[in-house]
Amino acid sequence: MGQLTGKTALITGATRGIGLAIARLMASEGANIAFAYVSSDERAAVLTKELEASGIRAKGFKADVSDMAAVTAMVADTINEFGRIDILVNNAGITRDGLIMRLDEAQWDQVIDTNLKSAFNCIKACSMPMMKQRSGSIISISSVTGLHGNAGQSNYAASKAGLVGLSKSVAKELASRGVRANVVAPGFVLTEMTETLPQETIDGWCKSIPLGRGATTQEIAQAVVFLASDCSSYITGQVLAVDGGLGM
Ligand code: NAP
Repeated sequence: MGQLTGKTALITGATRGIGLAIARLMASEGANIAFAYVSSDERAAVLTKELEASGIRAKGFKADVSDMAAVTAMVADTINEFGRIDILVNNAGITRDGLIMRLDEAQWDQVIDTNLKSAFNCIKACSMPMMKQRSGSIISISSVTGLHGNAGQSNYAASKAGLVGLSKSVAKELASRGVRANVVAPGFVLTEMTETLPQETIDGWCKSIPLGRGATTQEIAQAVVFLASDCSSYITGQVLAVDGGLGM
């Protein structure tokens, strides 16, 4: 039996990168998987088939998670389809980088809405069903940038720091009902989000990481599965940095 057998996970942004690794690892641990994506129809169809072939139930929802109505409908459909949501992973995220004096309002709003308002939307929609079932694990994917800041990413850092405050507050509100909320803060992970960076920037970052390299998506997913599983049943309101020691 897997660590998540019988549980249902809702993962935002599972068509690529970290979310894809989380979906695959959770499915291999026995969880049924509902996931959100915004544009990758083909990848969503391929992923659904792949997950189902592993023996669990899976469904993709084309839903912009910054849109409250779309999220409310997705959560209702997930509960209709699977009966419950045990695990919520707020993973969907974007970057729109720029130095503060050049950052425009649209870049600010897009990042805050996609990275932070989306988590509010999903947590709000899942909180009542989780409270009623008296169990649930909410995991939000922040970033070391949200903990330490990064020049050229004030919008992204604000959104990721916001996830920490949001999660700690929700952890305090929902603990008495058996619902936990935690944060995973990755350092540098090679995905489509970061592969467009110049090689010299990547090399520079890797030099400053004590473990000397970026993380694999699998290494982030392992931390998320730990926080989703009963192995972390006494852990709530925490930020788990998975950063190779970068934040030490
Ligand atoms: P990625 O490869 O760019 O994938 C982003 C995922 O989010 C895709 O599945 C995308 O769906 C989905 N998405 C984007 N906007 C959405 C929206 N409005 N509604 C629904 N889904 C949406 O990103 P990643 O590198 O795996 O990053 C995943 C998370 O980890 C992000 O929150 C990111 O900030 C965080 N993180 C990443 C790193 C890193 O080094 N990569 C480091 C720290 C933290 P489509 O495929 O349909 O577009």
